[in-house]
Amino acid sequence: MEEEIFINATQSGCRIAIAERGLLRDIFIERTHNPGTIGNIYKGKVTRVLPGMGGAFIDIGNERDAFIHTKDVLNSASVIFTKENLKYTRRPIFELLHEGQELLVQVTKEPSGNKSQSVTSNISLASRYLVYMPYSSQVVISQRIEDQKECERLKDAILLILENQDGFIVRTAAENVDIYDIHKDAKLLIDRWSKVLDKSKKAISPSQIYKDLPLPLRVVRDTVCDQTTRIRVDRQETMDSLEGFIAEFIPSKSKILELAVDEEPLFDLHKLEDQISSAIEQRVPLKSGGYLVIEQTEAMTTIDVNTGVFVGRKDHEETIFITNLEAASLIPWQLRLRNIGGVVVIDFIDMENEAYKEQVVRILKKGQQADRVKWNLSQISDFGLVELTRKRDGSSLISVMCEPCECCRGRGFVKTADTVCLEILNEIRRRAGRYKEACLITASELIVDELINSDPNRIDLLSKALGIEIRLRGEASYNQEQFDVIGISI
Ligand SMILES: [Zn+2]
Repeated sequence: MEEEIFINATQSGCRIAIAERGLLRDIFIERTHNPGTIGNIYKGKVTRVLPGMGGAFIDIGNERDAFIHTKDVLNSASVIFTKENLKYTRRPIFELLHEGQELLVQVTKEPSGNKSQSVTSNISLASRYLVYMPYSSQVVISQRIEDQKECERLKDAILLILENQDGFIVRTAAENVDIYDIHKDAKLLIDRWSKVLDKSKKAISPSQIYKDLPLPLRVVRDTVCDQTTRIRVDRQETMDSLEGFIAEFIPSKSKILELAVDEEPLFDLHKLEDQISSAIEQRVPLKSGGYLVIEQTEAMTTIDVNTGVFVGRKDHEETIFITNLEAASLIPWQLRLRNIGGVVVIDFIDMENEAYKEQVVRILKKGQQADRVKWNLSQISDFGLVELTRKRDGSSLISVMCEPCECCRGRGFVKTADTVCLEILNEIRRRAGRYKEACLITASELIVDELINSDPNRIDLLSKALGIEIRLRGEASYNQEQFDVIGISI
């Protein structure tokens, strides 16, 4: 499938869209003031060992300490400088780490909500064709490479250059690539690792030892493939750095890189802006008239499948089946686009027919194969539920683009004007003793209108009952739930 990469770079950050036949498939966003940290390597210092939580906090120089899980600690006190005895263990954390200990760690997960950044001491370094794992002695070939002969060829190529106990993952992009280029990549990674080690020896903790490539280079490195037909960039500076990078590492793609000099902004021109906006909407329309409702909470994501119109239970099993099928083929795309990780529960419309159920799951599985990250999928339950877990890979799109609603504080609902009016009147009654002559209500325009118009008598009645004057003031900057009542003198 033909793929195009669009890079919109500005002073304040960078957005990269990958589209298949014009359809937005992946979106990567990085803000300059808050760059991603996944892949960065730090020399950190253990601040607290927490056996109850099965891990420890590490100061890596950020505002908040990072967390290392026991399973991510290599079994050595001198992890940083030697390669001996470095194996995964499940020994208790207090045997592995102690407060004040220095440790070389790599970020694996960005912080989210109340959760800290996650780090591991099992460091890996990625290039276009390979991932170098200095502490693992395995050679793993990407499962996407299906040809057995090709797998053998790649494995042999790697075995030639393995040094001691290090290991490699051969990435999908390496398929049918000349051994010379693969070895060049390997050498680059091994060199980079020795630089990391050198730097970490001299560095004091906490400090940053290594920073992954800037987003545009990283995305090009990781996603350009045979199907990529065009890379369009709208900023000269970014264009320059990409030109150098591509010439060195993917020379065959040098001619598809172009600077966009259109009148219209790049993402508008290619109809990406609208697609990005819809990718954070809860409701996703289906062609058949039905729709999905995608709701993300901290614990999990739920996807509700709905038919658009009312259908009778028995007669319309076909309609339901078609809606479910359509949902099953759209959901994998949406999960990828929104970069939703963790537990996902899909609530398909109930179906009696077992064969239909199987087909819906089959379509889901097919979509899963095209994803760049792994899933685990359950069968469809009697209630029409399918549970899956999708490996987390960076932050979800919604958490990059949005923050909890200031107005409803993430509840998803705001109090009705009527509810707020009652709250205001109750507050006045409760605190009536404190108002000597009059009180002033400040609320949003909408609430003030509601207080005056819905039941004009109630302010009057309250005013008489309490023996004070009640004044109103609309404040444009207040949201629907916000109000203040203060005592004033006339
Ligand atoms: Zn809200």
